[in-house]
Parts: sequence; C-alpha cells; structure tokens
Amino acid sequence: MYLDNNSTTAVRHEVWETMSPYFQEYYGNPASLQHALGRQAAAALLQARTDIAAVLHCQKQEIFFNSGATESINTVLKGVFQRYALKGKHIIVSTTEHKAVLNCCEELQKLGAEISYLPVDEQGAISLSLLAATIRKDTILVCLMAANNETGALHPIQEIAALCQAKDCLYFCDATQYIGKLPLFLEHIPIDILCLSAHKFHGPKGVGILYIRRKSKPIQVHPLLHGGGQELNFRGGTQNLPLIVGMAKALTLAAEEGYNSTYIRELRDYFEQEICARIPASHIISQDVPRLPNTSMLVVEHLLATEIMSQLPHIALAAGSACSSASRAPSHVLLAQGMTIEKAKASLRVSFSMLNTADEVATLLALLPNVVERLRAQSPIWQLVQAGIIR
Ligand code: PLP
Repeated sequence: MYLDNNSTTAVRHEVWETMSPYFQEYYGNPASLQHALGRQAAAALLQARTDIAAVLHCQKQEIFFNSGATESINTVLKGVFQRYALKGKHIIVSTTEHKAVLNCCEELQKLGAEISYLPVDEQGAISLSLLAATIRKDTILVCLMAANNETGALHPIQEIAALCQAKDCLYFCDATQYIGKLPLFLEHIPIDILCLSAHKFHGPKGVGILYIRRKSKPIQVHPLLHGGGQELNFRGGTQNLPLIVGMAKALTLAAEEGYNSTYIRELRDYFEQEICARIPASHIISQDVPRLPNTSMLVVEHLLATEIMSQLPHIALAAGSACSSASRAPSHVLLAQGMTIEKAKASLRVSFSMLNTADEVATLLALLPNVVERLRAQSPIWQLVQAGIIR
C-alpha cells in the first residue's frame, strides 16, 4: 500500500502510454530540424510546452524544461545571486523550505550572500508583516514555497507575490508540492519565478519546469548549464522528450480532473478523524492552517515513527521528509515549528494520491492503532505516562 505520495508518485497508465513511443519510435532530437524525426520531436516539444502553459495560464516562452525542482532551485538561487550583485546580496527564505533551498543558501553564504531565515509559528505559518519588514533595498530574492512537503501547510502565495511586487523584489515560489494537487493560475498571481517536478503528480522522475515571467524589466537568471543553445540558450542539454511529453500529459490530466482534490481530501479527512479517535495521545500537525488536501502529519506521542513503520512493512509511509528519513535526523520543518525532538521523531507522514482507495484507508485504520497499542504496551515510557508520572 503506497501512502508516500509527497515523496514521489506512480506514473499513471495514461502517462506511460503517451510517453513510451518517444523512447523507441519518435526518438529524434528536437534540435535536428534537418530530418523528419527531428522535426517530429520539435513539434512534440512545442505541443508539451503549449499544453503546460495552458494549464499554468502563462506563456510558453516562460517555460524552461529541466531535470526537476532541485535543478531549478540551484539555477535560481545561484543565477539570481550572480546577476543581481549590483543590487545586493540579501536573500529571504523560510526555515521550513526544502533542503534543496536551505543547502543552496548555505553554499551561497560561503560566497558572501546574506540570508534571512523567516521563522514560522507552530502551525507552519509565516508572518506577512515580518516578511514586509525583512525585505530591504538590497534584497534580491524572496524564496518561499507554496506548500510544505512534510506538513502540507500552504504559504499565502498571492499575498507574498503582491508584497514582493510592491517592494520591487523578485519572488521565487517552490511550487513542487502544490502543482498537481491544487490549481495555480500564473496570470492571476504575480509570482516571478516558479518551479515544479513532474514525479509529484504521476509524471516521470527527473523532469520539471522552471517558469520565469516575461516582464518589461526582464528577470535575470544566470544559466547553470551552458550547452548547445537549447531552451532559448538558458539550459543547455538535449531535452528529455519522453519525460517532457509524460509531464505534459500528467499535468493536463490532473487539471482536467480538477486534481481529484475533493476525492483525495475526503480520504485524508476521514483518515485523520478516525485515526485521532482511535489512537490516544495522537494529533495532526498544521491542521488549523490552509493545507494541501492530501497530506497528514500524524504525531503518535511517545513512540518513534520509524518503529511504527517497521511494524508495517507492506505500507509505504514516511517519517518526516524523504531526505530527513534517510539521514535519520529529526525533521527540520517540525523543529522549526517549535516541536521537541521527541515529538518530531514521533511524526509519521501519510500522503495520499488519486490512486489510493477507501479500502486502503480502512486497512490502515485497522492496522495502525493495533501496532501503536502493541508498541506502547512494551514501552516503559508509556507506562510512566499512563501512571501520570511524565507527560
Ligand atoms: N521542493 C520541494 C517542496 C519538494 O518537496 C521536493 C522534493 O521532495 C523538491 C523541492 C525537490 O524535488 P526533486 O527531488 O524532484 O528535484
């Protein structure tokens, strides 16, 4: 049972059917316009760009294909830092950004960048007035995600974008978890730069988009990869056409289906309501702020999430984010939200997709409380909690 959809998703059948001929039949290079196979590839690339622009409500010239959000984040942070040196070296990010952002900032600090880390409250929300006060004349970039990968908490991107516009400061939105789960119309929100990864919405891994708005005062981002002039000379390297075609199909299908957000939200909300009723001393993080419809960060107090997961080997869940699970460190997001290390380590992320079913939720609801009860029965700490000796 797969309930780790914020980490990655399965490629949908329709997406695979659409992209697979581009490996062995239509394998031309979109830059090889001298022959039919190349022209066919160029046409498919243009169609994918057009389809994606239609979903995001932007111009197709504003879309740059690349290998995914990590590449976009590196390109933007490093590329803006390089090009806006005359304006300043000040960048604003939140403490709950993805590690790709935070680690990139660490690298830039070594090169002289000044990074302001915007705190969040216990629900994961930033303060807009603090953001306004933090933006300076020499601020070259505000980098705030649309939706958090661990808690699903949403940042107020409309207000952030308007604030940055008013203060004449670039806004880069990491929308990796948001796109494919909720609609976002770039013609209505003045986001300057945005990134996404196809594998978060049932597209293939290793492909994504960097969106850069065309403005009268053009946005300057120094390229990360120099090469053969692809992507308007902004991102060198032969475009990965099968993956790009698959990404366009996945995004188009998701938009046509209203992101299945009502269905997914109902599964998620039922799970949350039932699980908190069935497991004593459990609760959901960021439940009181606007959230993605698919994400539940469940805290099962006085247990380790990894211990619970090891008792459910056939169910894919996550303890914190995929990267922090690998490092076994407590989630930086939950710590930033003011949780103790113990509670952060007791947090289990359940992330749903349209491919999950009510039967799966019923199975999880049947298994998880039993596992918790069994583990707590063996736990001396739980005995002390029960006896009222510790809380
Ligand atoms: N940003 C966010 C919010 C994410 O959730 C992820 C992946 O989990 C990334 C960036 C990095 O995406 P990718 O691994 O596809 O480059």
